[in-house]
Amino acid sequence: MSAFAFPPPPVVSVPVEGRAEAFPVRRILCVGRNYWAHRKEMGAADDDRDPPFFFAKPADALVPPGAPVPYPSATGALHHEIELVVALSSGGADVSPDRALELVFGYAVGVDLTRRDLQNAAKAKGQPWESSKAFDASAPISAVRPWRGDPPRGRIALSVDGIVRQDAVVADMIWNVAEVISQASTLWTLAPGDLIFTGTPEGVGAVERGATVEGEVEGVGALRFQIA
Ligand code: MN
Repeated sequence: MSAFAFPPPPVVSVPVEGRAEAFPVRRILCVGRNYWAHRKEMGAADDDRDPPFFFAKPADALVPPGAPVPYPSATGALHHEIELVVALSSGGADVSPDRALELVFGYAVGVDLTRRDLQNAAKAKGQPWESSKAFDASAPISAVRPWRGDPPRGRIALSVDGIVRQDAVVADMIWNVAEVISQASTLWTLAPGDLIFTGTPEGVGAVERGATVEGEVEGVGALRFQIA
């Protein structure tokens, strides 16, 4: 085996609650428009019935629990999106919804940070979303809570400087967790270490430098970070 031309990047990982071993991350898939009320606030028509869809972030966009998030370059509209995150410890292709939960290692709480101004410009021009979604430090995340059985369905909420901005329930997702995993597996062969951000409910909005962001998903955990 040959040596590398330069030191390879480290494996990205997320702490696992109550365990010494971390969850090694392979990649991050994200679901767009998975809550009706959020679709409406983003300007979708009343008769919009298009299915949710996927985009992606690189694994090294993750920000470990508690670490500050630097305000990103090239935006004046950094938006928060609180999301339930699914962590997979096994994979596969064309996984049926009734088998999809067998792939789950656990759940975490994540924030899909978005350069909303760049996203709106990209939408208007029909351009891709990478610069608005897949930027450095765009995915703060909590520890992963190991989990078996029925997925979380309870409250999902986010506050900025103590003011509640997003307050909904996971049960309102258009695609539920099993359907999200199944749909993703029709497009990619899923593998251990994949994370899936499952979409955000209504109430997204801007965060400024110095703000403290707190998010939670009932039964899963919480995260807190400052915009530096
Ligand atoms: Mn999102």
